Amino acid sequence: MFQKILIANRGEIALRVICACKELGIKTVAVYSEADRHSLHVRFADEAVCIGPAKSARSYLDIPSVISAAEITNVDAIHPGYGFLSENSNFAEVCETSGLTFIGPKPPVIRAMGFKQHAREAMDKAGIPILPGSAGVLESAEHGLETAAKIGYPVILKATAGGGGRGMRVVNEASELPGLLAQAQAEAGAAFSCPDVYIEKYIRKPRHIEFQILADHYGQVEVLGERECSIQRRHQKLIEESPSPRVTPELRQRITDSLKKAMREVGYTNAGTVEFLMDEDGSLYFIEVNARVQVEHPVTELVTGIDIVKAQIRIAAGEPLSSILTEPVTLRGHAIECRINAENPETFTPSAGKITGLNLPGGIGVRVDTWAYTDCVIPPYYDSLVAKLICYGSDRKEAITRSLRALDMFIVEGIHTSIPLHQRILSDPEFQAGDIDTNYIARFLAKK
Ligand code: ADP
Repeated sequence: MFQKILIANRGEIALRVICACKELGIKTVAVYSEADRHSLHVRFADEAVCIGPAKSARSYLDIPSVISAAEITNVDAIHPGYGFLSENSNFAEVCETSGLTFIGPKPPVIRAMGFKQHAREAMDKAGIPILPGSAGVLESAEHGLETAAKIGYPVILKATAGGGGRGMRVVNEASELPGLLAQAQAEAGAAFSCPDVYIEKYIRKPRHIEFQILADHYGQVEVLGERECSIQRRHQKLIEESPSPRVTPELRQRITDSLKKAMREVGYTNAGTVEFLMDEDGSLYFIEVNARVQVEHPVTELVTGIDIVKAQIRIAAGEPLSSILTEPVTLRGHAIECRINAENPETFTPSAGKITGLNLPGGIGVRVDTWAYTDCVIPPYYDSLVAKLICYGSDRKEAITRSLRALDMFIVEGIHTSIPLHQRILSDPEFQAGDIDTNYIARFLAKK
């Protein structure tokens, strides 16, 4: 097992990894930017190294600074968290050549999954259903028009290197395609230094459903059920839950069996998430793989009882899954996560600043993953996630009621947060009926 791990991240996920390390008896090294000097991850790590100024390009994304911090503190491994360098295959490779274990999949697998078109082809080959679309990236507008005519409008153009919803355009009719293709390519080129775009059938009212994977270095793959993440605003998830109200035990079993085979075939190791869209008929179609731990992993932890971050560390250290998961994976009860962001709940504008008063809810079935404390300052430089409220109930109804009572007891003073928005969504009969798709938020906000 590792003696010491460096956490190449900040905020709640850095703390989450520190918790796992403490429980495994592993020492930790925090890295931080000048803006995060007073952060809790710095306080709770055994050692801490300042790696640069506030701007993440010069600190959390600066590979030489992170590697130097690892070398001077003599760590064995690096946990990248999510975001920042977590899906950067070049970083994973530099770790390996520097004699450090990167806690994640192998660099060629990260690279292959990072190009969505490659991932799509690999999953198709392994028998996972994909949406009708182009074979390979689009060579020209004519190629796009031909493919779209075959699959039928509407279609969606997607950047193969994409992320965060950038480089995506919905095309409703042929006349729009050449112009939107040029826009998607330009946006992808600027954001990802790769202008390649492919085309896929567009689903009008999809549910976003994703499966959590753990895979060891000896070919054992386990699927920890699914999460429903259809409550999104501009492709950013706001509320996630497990299990999905729409996934039947038969569907879950079928996808689990085919994913075990597919992930083994692509040589996947460590934790990952396979994302699908569900159409109105209830069919699932693969969209992408996230080769890292996700923000919403706690809902899976609550319904399976499996500590995903500890499993990531143990897998990276070479332990077989058979010794990490001593019982068959079973799902029990229901869990819901609300992302508490520092933002105005009406306008969604960021609300950085000092938290002057804080009460975190507790009690049975309530988990809060946060880096906030009274008098801490939320800097404007990073994502706006301040806390995750994750509530467990014996069923979906209890998980909703418990989330509502915990939100009532969740007090953050000094900045605006998304708490009032969560209270309204969880009280909405449409949400309560489980009648949700990725357009839910747009509909809900228009309804007011
Ligand atoms: P990114 O990596 O940029 O987040 P994804 O491929 O994960 O992109 O897609 C993000 C979101 O975009 C999905 O959750 C869904 O809401 C929407 N989306 C993607 N592909 C389609 C599609 N074929 N039809 C309808 N919506 C889609």
